[in-house]
Amino acid sequence: MTLLGPNPSQPAVTLEALYFGPIAAKVEVAATLLRSCAHLVMQDAACATLVAELAAATQALQSLLSTSGMTAQCAACGRRADGGCCGAWVADQSDAMLLFVNGLLGWQPAALPDRRPTCAFLGPSGCSLRVKPFLCQDYDCHALSAMIDGADGPGIRHLRAACAAHYLALEQRTLSVLGQAGWLAGG
Ligand code: SF4
Repeated sequence: MTLLGPNPSQPAVTLEALYFGPIAAKVEVAATLLRSCAHLVMQDAACATLVAELAAATQALQSLLSTSGMTAQCAACGRRADGGCCGAWVADQSDAMLLFVNGLLGWQPAALPDRRPTCAFLGPSGCSLRVKPFLCQDYDCHALSAMIDGADGPGIRHLRAACAAHYLALEQRTLSVLGQAGWLAGG
């Protein structure tokens, strides 16, 4: 039996669809949730606070990554035909919840460019996501490792941890809001 969301023409979203499957399908799920439920999530005071905290932390992290040279390093690799570290297989690590949260922070889901083998979220100036998959935040790269050992390292580590904490809290709270409103199948 298919469970229905609050709108009878819109099936409730399953955890399977939120967290598994091909990246194009996850982008579609995130786009549907953004259209249907973003207002609902932002009406929840705890979610709104967490979104604001996450936005501030990601902005501060982006700024430090930029001044440390890490953003330029990633963008340079991103201009390679294979996308460097940002290969297509990494895009699959994103889930629809991560993309939904990115949408709350201003990211716009769009039809995925057919440019494999690079990650679908890799743009001309680097990653287009505000919050990246955890795998991407490991900075598992010799050049970036050298940079993160520099003066900005402690600040970057602190902000990366703050982003993760805000994100995880927001994810949990969002699941609860969606579940209570009937948007999660089984929620
Ligand atoms: S999500 Fe962003 S950082 Fe991660 S592989 Fe894709 S473009 Fe690179």
